[in-house]
Amino acid sequence: MQPKDTTRDPAYKGFTNLSCPFYPCHQGVKREFNCLFCYCPLIAYACPGPYRVYTDKHGLRRKDCSKCRLPHDGYSASWAFIQKWLERPRVWDGQEQREPYRNAERAS
Ligand code: SF4
Repeated sequence: MQPKDTTRDPAYKGFTNLSCPFYPCHQGVKREFNCLFCYCPLIAYACPGPYRVYTDKHGLRRKDCSKCRLPHDGYSASWAFIQKWLERPRVWDGQEQREPYRNAERAS
């Protein structure tokens, strides 16, 4: 079986769940809305997304990704973005966003 991270088959790269009660959960997506990364694989890692940091009721620092479209904007583009950032994942340190957003645009 071909590993999915190297697939060229677009059928593995995304789908849109038009029946989801939350669709469209992120505004401003211009290409196909990709629901494949609904739970973003980068949530625990450093990423270039425009997240906001908040502290939950247990005192844990978390990302609020409401304004991020990177895992959702286009099947192929979001697939490529996620694969690129998972190549060398770095655990997120809980700090505010410091990664330049333009790196993500280059990946898509
Ligand atoms: S900011 Fe975007 S890329 Fe980063 S974890 Fe959140 S949804 Fe994923």
